[in-house]
Amino acid sequence: LDQVSQTMPVVAETIVREYRDQSRNLKLIASENYSSLATQLAHGNLFTDKYAEGFTGHRFYAGCGNVDTIEAEACRLACELFDADHAFVQPHSGADANLVAFLAILAARVQAPELAKREAKSVMALDEEAWRDLRAKSQNHRLLGLDLYSGGHLTHGYRLNISGLLFEAHSYSVSPETGELDLDAIAAQAREVKPLILLAGYSAYPRKINFAKMREIADEVGAVLMVDMAHFAGLVAGKVFTGDYNPVAHAHICTSTTHKTLRGPRGGIVLCKDEFAEYVDKGCPMVLGGPLAHVMAAKAVAFKEALSPEFQTYAQHVVDNADALANACSELGMPVVSGGTDNHLMLIDVAKGFNINGRQAETALRSCGITLNRNTVPFDPNGPWYTSGLRLGTPAVTSLGMGVAEMKEIAAILHLVLSNTKAALKTKGKAKGQPSQVKYELDQAVIDQAQQR
Ligand code: PLP
Repeated sequence: LDQVSQTMPVVAETIVREYRDQSRNLKLIASENYSSLATQLAHGNLFTDKYAEGFTGHRFYAGCGNVDTIEAEACRLACELFDADHAFVQPHSGADANLVAFLAILAARVQAPELAKREAKSVMALDEEAWRDLRAKSQNHRLLGLDLYSGGHLTHGYRLNISGLLFEAHSYSVSPETGELDLDAIAAQAREVKPLILLAGYSAYPRKINFAKMREIADEVGAVLMVDMAHFAGLVAGKVFTGDYNPVAHAHICTSTTHKTLRGPRGGIVLCKDEFAEYVDKGCPMVLGGPLAHVMAAKAVAFKEALSPEFQTYAQHVVDNADALANACSELGMPVVSGGTDNHLMLIDVAKGFNINGRQAETALRSCGITLNRNTVPFDPNGPWYTSGLRLGTPAVTSLGMGVAEMKEIAAILHLVLSNTKAALKTKGKAKGQPSQVKYELDQAVIDQAQQR
């Protein structure tokens, strides 16, 4: 840090401030965690200086032997950890991993059969007219994924996301009655839509998914089953989601981040069946720029850590803690969407429970030392900016060693703060006297009490 400080004092100071922030505030953001020091140190070194486009043993640059060692080791460990046929560990993020997967599916299922018909070895062997034809045939295929407002991710076909431009996107929702996915309804929709890709996975859905059944649906309609396990990869690696609930066993292709429940460095991975391997490996340079060798080194360290028995204990505790937190919140009268959780996260409907919106709840809690994020609840009337909900997750607090007793205390603190937070009334303009969507009132005495606890 002294070296950083000599060059750029503000960066060094901010690193220390961030350390204090993450140490002093309670981290309940479901997508965050605390990576190990070994992971962080493997990440911060001179591998950042090396270019290595291509993949192990097939590079476009000289001098990549050491990157080959790192990448091959990270791939080997990822395959061992998830029992996968093939791993690609280069994606810089979860969003990049999804793009790599999308193009691999298009290459394997749309372009390869077309090339075979034309007896062409590759796209580059086509004349201009044939290429234009293939390009047109590669566009506007159907993607069926979870609606953003039911807990899906922007990269699952949201109109403004590149996935929404690349595909004709359709979405399934949770049931308005139960807040849970209805697999029979998804099957019926899949029969109607006939997607090229059936996409499962979520950012804010609190239940586990039967991937064996999702695969049956995909097979029935001739779709590729892609699972984005960005959020729950740590629960798969830690053997909490097994059998029908293990996406890697059932999906053709899985994508993930490495930094959420998996507790590695910020980044992405793609795991796939052999059929997609050669296309996934073309992710660099066809989708991604040069791989981040320092991040792949940190991924290898994190995968090795996740192979340990301690990681399995951590993964089980993440789920036990989430269950305890959801139950404690329910017992205190807070509306928990779908009535509970099977994974590491839950949604609380603060509009229903406390007559405030998600943004007010998020800011009020942050002032008391609790960091979490506002989130839409299914069919949210408040939209994605203000929202009606809070998303709570237990990975980070579990990594700190907290257990069921602490979850009960956290629920009590949440209740203390939320039940004392009121929307402030607007003091000016046409809506004077109406509740503000931004400002709120919370007594300093409650803030002090919450912070102390
Ligand atoms: N997929 C899902 C399900 C996610 O929840 C996220 C991130 O929140 C992503 C993809 C994107 O990950 P990243 O931010 O690393 O691009």
